Amino acid sequence: MTAYYAGASAPSFAVANRLEAYAATAEFDRPTLVIDVDRVETQFEALKAGLGRADIHYAVKATRIPRSSSASCGSARISMRPRAVRSSCACPKARPEHVSFGNTIKRVSDIAFAYNAGIRMFAVDAEEELEKIAEHAPGAQVYVRLIVETSSADWPLTRKFGCDRDTALKLLDRATELGLEPLGFSFHVGSQTRHAEMWVPVLDELSRIWTAAQEAGHRLQLLNIGGGFPAFYGEEIQAPTDYAAAVMELVEARFPGAERVMAEPGRGMVAEAGVIACEVMLTSRKSDRDMHRWVYLSIGRFSGLAETEGEAIRYQFVTPHDGEATSPCILAGPSCDSADVLYEKRPMNLPLNLKSGDRVLIRNTGAYTSTYSSVCFNGFPPLDVVIL
Ligand SMILES: *Cc1c(COP(=O)(O)O)cnc(C)c1O
Repeated sequence: MTAYYAGASAPSFAVANRLEAYAATAEFDRPTLVIDVDRVETQFEALKAGLGRADIHYAVKATRIPRSSSASCGSARISMRPRAVRSSCACPKARPEHVSFGNTIKRVSDIAFAYNAGIRMFAVDAEEELEKIAEHAPGAQVYVRLIVETSSADWPLTRKFGCDRDTALKLLDRATELGLEPLGFSFHVGSQTRHAEMWVPVLDELSRIWTAAQEAGHRLQLLNIGGGFPAFYGEEIQAPTDYAAAVMELVEARFPGAERVMAEPGRGMVAEAGVIACEVMLTSRKSDRDMHRWVYLSIGRFSGLAETEGEAIRYQFVTPHDGEATSPCILAGPSCDSADVLYEKRPMNLPLNLKSGDRVLIRNTGAYTSTYSSVCFNGFPPLDVVIL
């Protein structure tokens, strides 16, 4: 083997913006997610332009903004999951009346905490949850999450959450009996639903339930359309404003009397505002006959790239050797768990010259990376977060 490099030669990246320029050159002592807050604001404005009258509630589970940063959620309202109620995930500047507690599975102490903090809107998909809310957040507003059977998302959120039509109608009645105020319905079309047309079967299915509830005498005021707004991972997507406007047009045609529409983008708001800087730890072949090289990165399934599970989300990698000859690689994380393989069924083409120590950027990774990263599995530190 010949030496490919003088170790000190500075890598050169073809970077796309100031975020990538920073991530390519700054010093990091571990895998780091760099977030450009201005870019979050741009995405918010772009989505807002398309969503029109719908209120945007940012889904805070999508990323971790360190407590020390001065970043806010702009003018977005927020939707949160249990731990975010108390933790640094929550946006410190959000007003309680703009916060909705969107997980259907809540600890009673978290319900009470949220209620005491002034939060009044809660999601439900089961009778027992209604009872918990009635006891610990008396008089609160609730919306019933409907199950989605027809998602064509890259990262579906079906099955685990929501309930069917008959259960939903019963829950509306039960909420009233318990002294709560039922507002309407919510659903999630599935995360990374790449095109607005993919919403059609879901909206068709759910609008029948909406109509059935109205016919049964329920006054529905709220439709919460959840998230699903896509990010660019290499496969074509619609621009955020066009996408959001197309979704709203489909919604307006199907849900008569929905005075209030709310949307909860997570990925669509923050994914493209982030880039991860990591490095190659090893390249190898298992035998002389091995078809593919193995490339091991300093970040893996357990330290931020959880959405590579099932190879569902296929990230884009930027290296200092882009433009040079490539070959198919099996890409893996550094931990000793054999599940820590990122892409194997569909290997990733990477430059032949890539070697240990090279920095690698992973594009559009602002969503579902920092919040998924484990604390110290196998001794690897969690994904660091830097805000520009
Ligand atoms: C995760 C989540 C969202 C955000 O979904 P994205 O696909 O990231 O936009 C919205 N609403 C609820 C209830 C969620 O759990």
